[in-house]
Amino acid sequence: MIKEMQLRVTPRDGYNEQSIRRYVAREQGWDERTITCVRTLKRSIDARQRDVYVNLTVRVFINEQPPAEEFEPVAYRDVSEQPQVVVVGAGPGGLFAALRLIELGLRPIVVERGKNVRDRKKDLARIRPEQRVDPESNYAFGEGGAGAYSDGKLFTRSKKRGNGEKILRVFCQHGASPSILSDAHPHIGTDKLPRVIENMRETILRCGGEVHFTTQMNALLIKNEKFFCPNERSAASVERKIKSEEAPCVCGIACADGREFHGPVILATGHSARDVYQWLYNNKVEIEAKGLAVGVRLEHPAQLIDQIQYHSKRGRGDYLPAAEYSMVQQLDGRGVYSFCMCPGGFVVPAASGPEQIVVNGMSPSNRNGRWSNSGMVVELRPEDIPSPRGGQEGALKMMRYQEELERTCWQQGNMRQTAPSQRMADFVNGRLSYDLPESSYAPGLISSPLHFWMPEPIRHRLQEAFKIWGRQKHGFLTNEATVIGVETRTSSPVRILRDAETLQHIRLRGLFPCGEGAGYAGGIVSAGVDGERCAEAAAEYLKGIKN
Ligand SMILES: Cc1cc2nc3c(=O)[nH]c(=O)nc-3n(C[C@H](O)[C@H](O)[C@H](O)COP(=O)(O)OP(=O)(O)OC[C@H]3O[C@@H](n4cnc5c(N)ncnc54)[C@H](O)[C@@H]3O)c2cc1C
Repeated sequence: MIKEMQLRVTPRDGYNEQSIRRYVAREQGWDERTITCVRTLKRSIDARQRDVYVNLTVRVFINEQPPAEEFEPVAYRDVSEQPQVVVVGAGPGGLFAALRLIELGLRPIVVERGKNVRDRKKDLARIRPEQRVDPESNYAFGEGGAGAYSDGKLFTRSKKRGNGEKILRVFCQHGASPSILSDAHPHIGTDKLPRVIENMRETILRCGGEVHFTTQMNALLIKNEKFFCPNERSAASVERKIKSEEAPCVCGIACADGREFHGPVILATGHSARDVYQWLYNNKVEIEAKGLAVGVRLEHPAQLIDQIQYHSKRGRGDYLPAAEYSMVQQLDGRGVYSFCMCPGGFVVPAASGPEQIVVNGMSPSNRNGRWSNSGMVVELRPEDIPSPRGGQEGALKMMRYQEELERTCWQQGNMRQTAPSQRMADFVNGRLSYDLPESSYAPGLISSPLHFWMPEPIRHRLQEAFKIWGRQKHGFLTNEATVIGVETRTSSPVRILRDAETLQHIRLRGLFPCGEGAGYAGGIVSAGVDGERCAEAAAEYLKGIKN
């Protein structure tokens, strides 16, 4: 017999299969020995009341063997002789596009400006001693994209964009813990993500795809006459005559090292590739300014957040994970909210170029660090930022705003990667902090009056929101917490305009703007979902060319 059940158990029973099995047997009056397996399908923490419970949905196997796999693996086949599609960027958008192309019988050629995920890690370790960021190998650029050394939280608010569960299953197939299929807030952890990403790359290579590291795309190849993709393997299948009045199309990319790769292009270059946006702008490829959110990272002692969220002086105790929080407030017509909260995590230097300070957060799989941090950001709409005179570069104005704030922050940080910071209550009360608490931010903090130099609409709303949240959660507004500048890379400052049906650029056929950088995703799962959709759209496009 197989039975699905809803359980509400104490934290002690909620995380251990043996305890759950014992609990089920006791509650149902069954002999525990008849239960062959308990599979957790969903797990969430209910910390609304003083006593914290864990809500579970479980599948119980009684006198019956469970299936070996907890999920149906995707079948990837050999595509070495199949038509190719160029995927620019090996972040979640690009990697999931490449895997989906293989599923669909197409050959992905992945081009990535950064290094493989292991070599990239060495460059990240150098940021602290050298106090500088390698512009081609950093928290934004390299195999795995911004998702590789991220927190690896895998939930998405968007239900409409496709199948997020499939993304989680593909992660499991490549080595992530199957617990991500059941946890309400699934999380892989920065220590586990690199191996999963390497396994995804191995699948691409094993099936006959290509992955090129340290290969920076610096132009799209655009043709508007007779279109022919000079790809030795599949030229015949993608050859197509295009009438002169038809829209121009993209038939490949040129790279900084002089190489060219041919085929339709999935452009998944992420939100930090400012040179890509600039190239698109210079070459009159239609893009528009997009709203984003900017602010600071807020770091508390993890124990304090545990005490607040679990209503107990003991904090999380022996069984519960480090506590999360989520805050949101409307102030003067704009949203202020917590972003990418990292319980038991650390704050990282996430700039991607010189003369910038950008902070972000991540956490290891066990989330047992001494601090908990979160982005605290204020919504900015394009109409909030004046357009440059004469309409020049209007599409890039949000990006320029980001750049300006990151440069100011770098100047305030002594022109190194030391991040300007202030105690939280001091920030709210407009006082300079004479000293700072210990922090997880490895390059170091420097005391700075953020209340003075942050742009007024951001500063003011953050101060007001912190006061409100301090009243709602006793102990949250405290000088034990640190406000660290600046969090600017919450999403793309630009949207690359694409057709809603075909997912091709509105004018350039054969170009599929993809993922976060194109403005169609915000996070690992949604970028993965968008990657899959772009792969499907590219397959449709190639079918059209064949016929
Ligand atoms: C520190 C940190 C923590 C985060 N934590 C989380 C989290 O917990 N959960 C979550 O959902 N999201 C998190 N995010 C955000 C998440 O990582 C992104 O939303 C996601 O990676 C976007 O995927 P993408 O593929 O669209 O772009 P990206 O991941 O940005 O990938 C783009 C890739 O394109 C490459 N590229 C750029 N330009 C070129 C070029 N010209 N030629 C070749 N290659 C190029 C880049 O090197 C990069 O590898 C975090 C981000 C950071 C930085």
